[in-house]
Amino acid sequence: MPTATPGIHHVTAVASDPQRTVEFYTETLGLRLVKRSVNQDDVSVYHLFYGDHEGTPGTGMTVFPYPDADGGRVGTGQVSTVSFLVPDGSLEYWRDRLAEADADPGSPHDRFGNTVLPATDPDGLPLELVARADAPPANLPESPVPHAHAIRGFFGVTLSLTSGDATGDLLKGMGYRQTNRDGTRLRYEAGGDLGYVVDIVEEPQARPGIPGAGTVHHVAFRVDDDEQDEWRQFLIDRGLRPTEVIDRTWFESVYAREYESVLFEFATESPGYTVDEDLEALGERLVLPAWLEDRREEIEAELPDLTG
Ligand code: ZN
Repeated sequence: MPTATPGIHHVTAVASDPQRTVEFYTETLGLRLVKRSVNQDDVSVYHLFYGDHEGTPGTGMTVFPYPDADGGRVGTGQVSTVSFLVPDGSLEYWRDRLAEADADPGSPHDRFGNTVLPATDPDGLPLELVARADAPPANLPESPVPHAHAIRGFFGVTLSLTSGDATGDLLKGMGYRQTNRDGTRLRYEAGGDLGYVVDIVEEPQARPGIPGAGTVHHVAFRVDDDEQDEWRQFLIDRGLRPTEVIDRTWFESVYAREYESVLFEFATESPGYTVDEDLEALGERLVLPAWLEDRREEIEAELPDLTG
């Protein structure tokens, strides 16, 4: 058996306007743009990575901004909400900040003993800020958000499923345990201190999700560097159909759709975003994997301008 995952590595969403997503995730949420690259499966589209100062696993929100993307629909078979962890007492600050940015903050409410503030990103992706006293320290020294309120990384994700049984069992095999239940919401927790929560909301009557801007493309879980083959076997043993191990330069990945089609990725902790750029210069220039470097001029000419 592979070593239990401590939680989420990164979450990747589809967006539309690239400049608008940079402004929201860096200026409003205060994350750092740690990598500016292209979608390796469609190099006419950026792949933008936000996170803490180093893009530590557990802090990485990544976006494919297709300028002409149709809006998707959040529904079953998808990650339906992305939740960020903030310190206790900071939600009033965030509610004002998100209102100023037209991010539709809702009313803070209690869920399993934590206060939750819902909001949306510029493409309508449902987000939450979850306040906890045990949030680890922030690592965002240059953020426009005051250190005391800064996002620490992910709290977790919510999956919208018609039934939670098979996926819940898969999560248990990955190292999660069920810790709570409230009506249709089942909570699973892993052992890390960031991105350790997966909530399953069972919605058999809900409409299926449609991919597009404002929806999550996939959620990646952190795995040990040398255990990708074991994770592949784990997925095969559970009747799923994983990809081969794919080298993403900053981590190695295996992908598989779980039983209700949510795309799961298993991404290694290493080598991280400083493998091809200095820490201080992360995100400043377009970075291409070695096998695309020959096509840099052509690729840059196709990409929209981006500042920030
Ligand atoms: Zn990914």
